[in-house]
Amino acid sequence: MTEDIKKLKVLFATAEAAPFAKVGGLGDVAGALPGSLLRNFPNEIDIRIIMPFHAAVKAKNPPMKKIGDFSFSANTRLIECQLFISDIDGVPVYLIDNPEINHDSPVYHGDWQLDGLKYASFSLALLEALRYLNWNIDILHANDWHTALAVYALTTTYKDDPFFSGIKTVLSIHNLPYNGWGSQDAMSMLGFTASADADLPDWAKFTPLPMGISATDRIITVSPGYAREILTPEYGCGMEAYLQKHSDKVSGILNGIDESRWDPAEDETLSYNFSVENLSQRVNNKLDFQRALNFNVDETIPLLTVVTRLSEQKGVPAILEALPRLIDRQWQFALLGTGSPELETSVRQLARAHPERVAAFIKYDDVIARMLYASGDIFLMPSLYEPCGLSQMFAMRYGNLPVATATGGLADSIRDYSADPQTATGFLYSQKTTAGLIQAVNLALDVFQDKNAWRIMQTNAMTTDFSWATSARNYLDIYKSL
Ligand code: ADP
Repeated sequence: MTEDIKKLKVLFATAEAAPFAKVGGLGDVAGALPGSLLRNFPNEIDIRIIMPFHAAVKAKNPPMKKIGDFSFSANTRLIECQLFISDIDGVPVYLIDNPEINHDSPVYHGDWQLDGLKYASFSLALLEALRYLNWNIDILHANDWHTALAVYALTTTYKDDPFFSGIKTVLSIHNLPYNGWGSQDAMSMLGFTASADADLPDWAKFTPLPMGISATDRIITVSPGYAREILTPEYGCGMEAYLQKHSDKVSGILNGIDESRWDPAEDETLSYNFSVENLSQRVNNKLDFQRALNFNVDETIPLLTVVTRLSEQKGVPAILEALPRLIDRQWQFALLGTGSPELETSVRQLARAHPERVAAFIKYDDVIARMLYASGDIFLMPSLYEPCGLSQMFAMRYGNLPVATATGGLADSIRDYSADPQTATGFLYSQKTTAGLIQAVNLALDVFQDKNAWRIMQTNAMTTDFSWATSARNYLDIYKSL
């Protein structure tokens, strides 16, 4: 009992959490960080997740119990909610449903009116759920624009509400450009008013993420590199002046990965499990994959791989331009991704033009993703910016060496061949252009020919500690400091 009183009570609010619902890295983080905190510091923290009850969660149908119904008023609307509880690896997960969240809907509609209503209402509902549960938390940890308005509401609508007094807030930024712009009508409908923070640029005063940034006690970016970058005009998305002025509340903590869910020695989706101790098994995955794709079955041909959202951010256009210009070299290429329709079409065209060496999987598929991580030799990640990036970490853990831009979390997680081949885990390059990518791929293709050098890098990559343990400690320290 006394121990419980001493424990920090943290609500981790998120749009996605793996394995219930995952669209990108946020889902990986939310599915792993709270569990790591709980396992590493069981006597110090009581952390629970809260997320919307999406269609994806319904489809997964995890064991869950209904806790009850509650309702609240937002402007002229009465919002009636249902609250459920489930768990991810021992972490309690509250799931909220209401007509705007709608458990038949996708995680993101891609329609600002619908997404605005979904997440603005979720942001209020998650606070009201605390009241309904009578759970007096110490810390609200919100993530990205989707839950930033919960932080904002604590300092406005709920400012004088005794139930919420004393709550400290942390806001993680996983991707600054996705700021919730377009939710303005939804926010008005639910009674949100613009921030009075004179330091915010005018456009930001009524935009969810900046409203949360202004209201929160601490801002955490998902890598130290990105924490520095967002203070500059190139990466600050118009918020750089604000963030510079308030840089004392900004810090960066590198994401980890869930090393038990991502373990090539145990991964049940792979035909051939492997580890650094039996690395020779690894290539069988590639040979099978080459066979399945009707490529030349030849381990000496380097297999380039990509698993990504198809977006400008991820440097997909540079890949599409670079590969035809590298056509005289020996390689094969396989991409898994969905996203912008134009990029989907261009990727399909490239595969049609070179069926003997290019394969495109235009879908979202966790099994194929794992196959690519495990079969590929070189993993391309030419991101224009990368707050953290997890794909490069999965790739390295599976012995697939990244070629990546030296930005944000990529530079923080990849050790560059050109700096020191003996400790390297991948290839970083600074010039974010097609020419820069071509040069880096050429270098990787050359090094691939040197079996010893490659083996050293693979071993370095696969034995790098990408676990959450260190980062979880850093999060706990920040919670405690509040
Ligand atoms: P972001 O969150 O910016 O999309 P990250 O690298 O942080 O990028 O995380 C992407 C996550 O989504 C990784 O777990 C990656 O394996 C996964 N992913 C991306 N696209 C697909 C896809 N088409 N199929 C399966 N998994 C995917």
